[in-house]
Amino acid sequence: MIISVSIANVKNTDTKEIYSVTGNQLLGNLDLMSQKQVSEAIHNASDAQTQWAETELYKRAEILHNWADKLVENQQEIAQMVSEEVGKGLASAQKEVVRTADLIRYTAEEGVRYHGDMMKGDSFKGGSKDKIAMVEQEPLGVVLAISPFNYPVNLAASKIAPALITGNSVVFKPATQGALSGQLMIKALLETDLPEGVIQFVTGKGSEIGDFIVTHPKIDMVTFTGSTEVGQSISQQAKMIPVVLELGGKDPAIVLEDADLELAAKNIVGGAFSYSGQRCTAIKRVLVADSAADELAEKIKKEMDQLSVGSPADNATITPLINDEAADKVENLIIDAIEKGAELVVGNKREDNLIYPTLLDNVTSDMEIAWTEPFGPVLPIIRIQNEDDYVAISNESQYGLQASIFTEDVKKAMHIGSKLEVGSVQYNAKTERGPDHFPFIGAKNSGLGSQGIRRSIESMTRDKVFILNM
Ligand code: NAD
Repeated sequence: MIISVSIANVKNTDTKEIYSVTGNQLLGNLDLMSQKQVSEAIHNASDAQTQWAETELYKRAEILHNWADKLVENQQEIAQMVSEEVGKGLASAQKEVVRTADLIRYTAEEGVRYHGDMMKGDSFKGGSKDKIAMVEQEPLGVVLAISPFNYPVNLAASKIAPALITGNSVVFKPATQGALSGQLMIKALLETDLPEGVIQFVTGKGSEIGDFIVTHPKIDMVTFTGSTEVGQSISQQAKMIPVVLELGGKDPAIVLEDADLELAAKNIVGGAFSYSGQRCTAIKRVLVADSAADELAEKIKKEMDQLSVGSPADNATITPLINDEAADKVENLIIDAIEKGAELVVGNKREDNLIYPTLLDNVTSDMEIAWTEPFGPVLPIIRIQNEDDYVAISNESQYGLQASIFTEDVKKAMHIGSKLEVGSVQYNAKTERGPDHFPFIGAKNSGLGSQGIRRSIESMTRDKVFILNM
């Protein structure tokens, strides 16, 4: 199937061919919109917003439910595109679509229950007892949603659905590789009764339209998921508008001496290698008690031997990375570590963009892999001699997305967890996003603001207070 992505009323001659991650199969063409065309799309979203905000809430919720139904109806076609376009196992792609439909439904339900407040003025001494405040939540206006390549359906919908239920219009900019999947998702939305103009789909070169779109005067909020580098640039560009950022990570799995090593190894391998490590919450380093390290490394290797390597169509866990650049980055990190004395337990093999799952032991702080987010299937083990170093080394990273702690000692786990500079701590399980209604937060350079359905809804509204003076 070859599809062509363009938005109504905006005709463009400049296009980019999008190929599958494997096999060089042409999947479709993408419009590379000019600044003028992007501006037109933003104005369309702005023009449509007031009427959308006035559409009754039950009707907005109905439209979202309808969108979810259409995603489920079209799940095969969308999942196929996700699988080919971003190189994800077909079964995982299908799960992503179904999970997204559930997320949209929950967002509609949560939005229906999202009401304002009433306050009386008599809480303070001094004569305000005759005041009553009615606090309403207003939409912000036009929300700019920018998503990364790795979950082109779920991460986009986790921005679009809360924006729509709260009465915002949306300008959605997907990652180039992922845009065809995003377009199929938007096509399903356009098959509902959503009024014209409320959703705008813009595509183009990040270098040409990126800064322009973020700084456009009609954009009232930016919600972004992607790399820390781009996120930081967005937070500097966007002036006086709310910005929510979900960025990179270097999630540690902290394995204490008393941990159930079988459980830890299973979770670490699942956490580090699913979708070839191309997940923000992938486990990206293991910090293990020196006394348990040999046994853990052996168990991790045993689990890794079970990983399937191959093509997304065959549902392999390890598939080719998104592009050459991504594979080069991972390969260079592996070479740097080995040259500096890391022990290669398994892996370090490459075929085009396919990097075989790689385990490095005895990684030290002078190696780049100790600190850099690889976004690929390589896992460094750092051996810990001194208990204080679990927290010290974890917190030395610029990132602070999630951490896992494996131990049977609850008190110790809570103690370490409370000192970690991260958004979430998982006990005896791998790091991961979800369920989608849990708050999801990046500390330090991993993000700004909180997501998760309720939090996202809140972030896309502002209070408006009506004060009755009786
Ligand atoms: P990326 O930063 O390269 O791109 C993300 C999006 O930003 C794309 O849509 C891209 O076109 C756009 N973009 C690029 N330059 C821009 C600019 N100047 N202005 C505005 N937009 C611009 O990220 P990626 O390679 O698609 O995704 C991988 C990264 O995303 C990893 O670092 C990963 O950790 C992170 N990520 C984070 C989360 C999270 O929830 N914290 C989830 C998924 C991915």
